[in-house]
Amino acid sequence: MTSDNAADSKISAEALTLHRSLLTLDSHIDIPWPDRDDAFLDTPRRHVDFPKMKRGHLTAGCFVAYIPQGTVDAEGHKAAQAQTIGMLEAINAHMQGTREGLTARICQTAAEIETAFRDNVLAVVPGVENGYGMGEDISLLARFRDLGARYVTLTHNGHNALADSGQPDRRLGDAETRHGGLSALGREAIAEMNRLGLLVDISHTSRDTMLQAAEVSSVPVVATHACVRALCDHPRNLDDAQLDALKACGGLIQITAVSGFLRPRAELGGRRATVSEYMDHLDYVVRRLGPEYVGISSDFDGGGQLDGWENAAGSPALTAELMRRGYDRSEIAAFWGGNFLRLLEKADREACR
Ligand SMILES: [Zn+2]
Repeated sequence: MTSDNAADSKISAEALTLHRSLLTLDSHIDIPWPDRDDAFLDTPRRHVDFPKMKRGHLTAGCFVAYIPQGTVDAEGHKAAQAQTIGMLEAINAHMQGTREGLTARICQTAAEIETAFRDNVLAVVPGVENGYGMGEDISLLARFRDLGARYVTLTHNGHNALADSGQPDRRLGDAETRHGGLSALGREAIAEMNRLGLLVDISHTSRDTMLQAAEVSSVPVVATHACVRALCDHPRNLDDAQLDALKACGGLIQITAVSGFLRPRAELGGRRATVSEYMDHLDYVVRRLGPEYVGISSDFDGGGQLDGWENAAGSPALTAELMRRGYDRSEIAAFWGGNFLRLLEKADREACR
């Protein structure tokens, strides 16, 4: 018996039944790079692979090409562009098809994700984490979209050519701000992303970048993996004014399972945050904005992991906790994917214009 099965046995039959009936989507999962580990096999190293998704009844995952921030120059951009394309190509090459009794499909639209759910097939939604991956070449956004990407996170840690990050990288010589939020190129990139149907992900960005992006993007912006600053004062988290701006534009925050964003490090003292502490952030957004502005992400294989949600196989624990907190089926379904799918549909409607 594996540990996640043991965890499962603590979950009520009622919660398991509800969980299994839902379309569940995790909006931010990293992939190992250089490419290694077969996603069709249960590996001890990966927190998300297809067997764990299946066991945890996780329908869909946004798997990202994560590009660490490097120098903002021609050489750095060239390497970042090549890695982004290489990672998206690897997702397409190795994360779909039928093997080991499992079927996975690259899905690009809400309708395709819903069809995969009905077909009992795992849905893989590609994304790009860090606008650094396009360097200064706007035309690459169309290439990312052609390779199935549905969102681009404007920055990671460290400023890039598009925007300021919430966490300047001193090793790269970053000052507190480089552009005062978005650069002219960043604004151009957002317009192109809107045109292509790429969601604008404001996780990791500075406060000014986020507020400006919410303003200029014709499609609501999303934080695919972020937490609430009122509960944990981390520069990466969204404060109340940012949450309000998110609601004003019709956007979405997908609470993420990174301990250091959920509780202050000093308080954690080395332990991992719990599922309950995670849900405190979700509750906060529901109370302030309403249930249609919040969802779920793990950041598994990119730093995310909770006490009680160790890997994708343990996903029913979240549904159980949401039930304990009194949420009904329609709310839990919205958190687990309904809200994110609605945003994808909105992006597609805007892109078609
Ligand atoms: Zn991230």
